[in-house]
Amino acid sequence: GLSCGVVGLPNVGKSTLFNAITQAGAESANYPFCTIDPNVGVVEVPDQRLDKLVELVKPNNIVPTAFEFVDIAGLVAGASKGEGLGNKFLAHIREVDAIVHVVRCFQDENITHVSGKVDPLSDIQTINLELILADIDSVDRRIERSRKNLKSGDKKVAQEIEVLERVKEALYNDKPARSIELTDDELALIKELHLLTLKPVLYAANVSEDEVANAEDNEYVKIVREFAASEGAEVVPISAKVESEIAELEGEDKEMFLEELGLAESGLNRLIRAAYKLLGLYTYFTAGVQEVRAWTIRKGMKAPQAAGVIHTDFERGFIRAEVVSYEDLAAAGSMAVVRERGQLRLEGKDYVVQDGDVMHFRFNV
Ligand code: GDP
Repeated sequence: GLSCGVVGLPNVGKSTLFNAITQAGAESANYPFCTIDPNVGVVEVPDQRLDKLVELVKPNNIVPTAFEFVDIAGLVAGASKGEGLGNKFLAHIREVDAIVHVVRCFQDENITHVSGKVDPLSDIQTINLELILADIDSVDRRIERSRKNLKSGDKKVAQEIEVLERVKEALYNDKPARSIELTDDELALIKELHLLTLKPVLYAANVSEDEVANAEDNEYVKIVREFAASEGAEVVPISAKVESEIAELEGEDKEMFLEELGLAESGLNRLIRAAYKLLGLYTYFTAGVQEVRAWTIRKGMKAPQAAGVIHTDFERGFIRAEVVSYEDLAAAGSMAVVRERGQLRLEGKDYVVQDGDVMHFRFNV
């Protein structure tokens, strides 16, 4: 499955946020492919379209789609040189698909800050520097090795070195590898290195509970936003403390608590959606009376691959798919009306699945 690693300096609120994530956690029976590990929290992706489909179809069972958050504790300045849990920590980041970087934006005299004062920009740079240093290490070593192995006329290795030299220049200028533009072919050449700064990042600005309703007025949040904008990254203001309280509530109690705080929805839901988007993920639906379910695919997947997310047999024996967009189905109100309107399409193996498609697969067993 796809996963998002939660990183940040000590005492910024990572554990608090991660506990909220696992508390709000998904019914694991629905997601047998997900990892069972205390450091992994499986979250369901909130989607109003799914709620609407449930209203229309009234199924026996409802399954939202899910993905994983991984708690990556232990990063301190010097990690790239083996300080703290150093290398172990960095190895965990290599395995995730995207990074949620928690930044302390709350004031609290009782909670020590590792560098003595709340300073989100310096915190971000401390972490980013460790990631950059770790990547410099990987890139330098790889360039040296590839140079040694380079035989005249070996185009692929020569190209790899050329790409790595560009990455290296960015890193030496304190810029992450993702800041340079690389084609898909160029990315493929350096994929094996699992560079940390190539992964997409989203900043979670942890504000105190009394500021959560007006988080955008918080000076620290503004600073984080400004920095993130310079990188083209997203910021989600959140109060880890509030989220841990929300996670313990359900139904009406939860609604009331959110209303008291002046929030339309939990920060966790916003974070989950932002992470989903960051990972470049799409959702398609299957909608039968037995079950209405959301499935996750990568943008650009074709119908057989999308079917393969349900079961490998669906991909192998794929014949065609019956497809209607969520918008058309919601407007029609029922599959019968969709058919009458001629909005049910038959699509073949080259069809690129769109976000929100409602699919029914025909396949050979
Ligand atoms: P970690 O080291 O990054 O995992 O940080 P923790 O989640 O353990 O949080 C460190 C301390 O900060 C704990 O005592 C939390 O209760 C506290 N904390 C976390 N978020 C907030 C917050 O939004 N407001 C306040 N006042 N304290 C918080």
